[in-house]
Amino acid sequence: MTSVSIKDLSLEFGAVSVLKDLNLDVGDGEFLVLLGPSGCGKSTLLNCIAGLLDITDGQIFIKGKNVTWEEPKDRGIGMVFQSYALYPQMSVRGNLTFGLKNAGVPRDEIARRIERAANILQIEPLLDRRPGQLSGGQRQRVAIGRALVRDVDVFLFDEPLSNLDAKLRSELRVEIKRLHQQLANTMIYVTHDQIEALTLADRIAVMKGGLIQQLDEPLTIYNRPRNLFVASFIGSPA
Ligand code: ADP
Ligand code: MG
Repeated sequence: MTSVSIKDLSLEFGAVSVLKDLNLDVGDGEFLVLLGPSGCGKSTLLNCIAGLLDITDGQIFIKGKNVTWEEPKDRGIGMVFQSYALYPQMSVRGNLTFGLKNAGVPRDEIARRIERAANILQIEPLLDRRPGQLSGGQRQRVAIGRALVRDVDVFLFDEPLSNLDAKLRSELRVEIKRLHQQLANTMIYVTHDQIEALTLADRIAVMKGGLIQQLDEPLTIYNRPRNLFVASFIGSPA
């Protein structure tokens, strides 16, 4: 079963073509990493899936439904950005609750979901603090929690760890992996970090210039890069 399916997707900003007739199928429960250098179109592709950008051409399906013209909130996706994008004046609990209240989720259901997310992410002791009182790693956990409480089918991550120091980055990498094993939902994860891609992914899509250069399992990408760009970017042995 396919979870996210992208057909002949093109996106232009004015005269600049950023995504070029791109096709991609992400399996149900798969952890797919979009890997490539800065400017290759990773965030643009993720934002198209999320519905935050109007595409120039093509179609996007989520769980078999054509969502090309659906509002972001109706796509069954949750997104975690590089910057934490938390509301500074609200408590952690307030940040987690906010979108749910607007969506009309009943109060006891909200409490249940927050308890579950806080437990999974180990942020129970932080629920009454404000973002300003948290470390970078704790804030990013809360940002993941905000996607988690929405009970979505598909998680989209845009370089969620790139603002953190190396030690926190490797800690949270392990947690994201555990989260995926526990939830078993589909995750599409953008990074320019080869180690992150190789350790997290079921499959890696290596991108360059708005095109997917190779889509394979990490070991295949590493051992059998399709071209010189993939080989040099992933750091394969010569
Ligand atoms: P990545 O996330 O891989 O670093 P992006 O998807 O952010 O790359 O950007 C891909 C290309 O699109 C870049 O060349 C960037 O300059 C361009 N771009 C991104 N957003 C816009 C925009 N709003 N208007 C014009 N060009 C943009
Ligand atoms: Mg980006």
